Amino acid sequence: MDEPPKILNGGNSIRPQKRIFLGLLAVTCVLFTAILAVLWYVPYVGLSNLSPRLPLILGVFFLALLVLVFMLVAMLGFTVVLGRDLFFSKRLRGVVIKLLLPLMSGVGKLCGVSKDQVRRSFIAINNQLVLAQHLKTTPDKLLLLMPHCLQFHECQFRITGSVVHCKKCGKCPIKGLVELSEKYGVGLAVATGGTLARRIVVERRPKMIIAVACERDLSSGIQDSYPLPVFGILNSRPNGPCYDTLVNLERVEEALQTFLVASALTDLPIKNDSPGAEA
Ligand code: SF4
Repeated sequence: MDEPPKILNGGNSIRPQKRIFLGLLAVTCVLFTAILAVLWYVPYVGLSNLSPRLPLILGVFFLALLVLVFMLVAMLGFTVVLGRDLFFSKRLRGVVIKLLLPLMSGVGKLCGVSKDQVRRSFIAINNQLVLAQHLKTTPDKLLLLMPHCLQFHECQFRITGSVVHCKKCGKCPIKGLVELSEKYGVGLAVATGGTLARRIVVERRPKMIIAVACERDLSSGIQDSYPLPVFGILNSRPNGPCYDTLVNLERVEEALQTFLVASALTDLPIKNDSPGAEA
């Protein structure tokens, strides 16, 4: 089995997120076992009166359920820790998105873990599972989806939906993103919220999305877009939420290089201003 690319997989920033996720997963397993034990023990007497075999049948059913859940959790844990696609990473992503995020939010609340910490951990796990699938796509099927808060607050040019009106003045990260989209030939769209983001995805029909947003928007975007693979990159908010936010362009470019087919990377346009290039 191939290892996912090191550039996005081995970063120290992911490790604490993995630990939070795995910790919450362990707590969830203990709680689940306790709940099943209570559900088995409480009606024990009543069931024995109906038939002496009923508690055994229920016990075997609960045990099978427990074994299934533990196998699923073990598979997920190994995929996350090893960063390798052991089995069914696509299906596992579905389980994480549909079942574990809401469950982990509840367990996180019980354990005093903030919503944003749970969401960050969910995004890291989602990314790990997307990387484990070793997806490669052509530039026309890859979409960079950005939040509107990246745009400089005084910029007069309308860039929602399409960024063609950006003058690339350099006052905000949109310039760098436009340049990346031109360099790699991928689509770039800016959304003001979930509704517009959904519309853009429906219209452009990408096979894969690299999305930038805050914890809340990225988590809901990943959930809304499932089964479409979304690789999430968190923005930074030095000026507070939703205002002149920033994104690490190197990370966006690393993601592009990870998910684009090799031919899209070898066909890159040669910059005229590169050393040795003709004027
Ligand atoms: S880079 Fe584009 S979007 Fe950003 S401030 Fe300049 S013109 Fe506006």
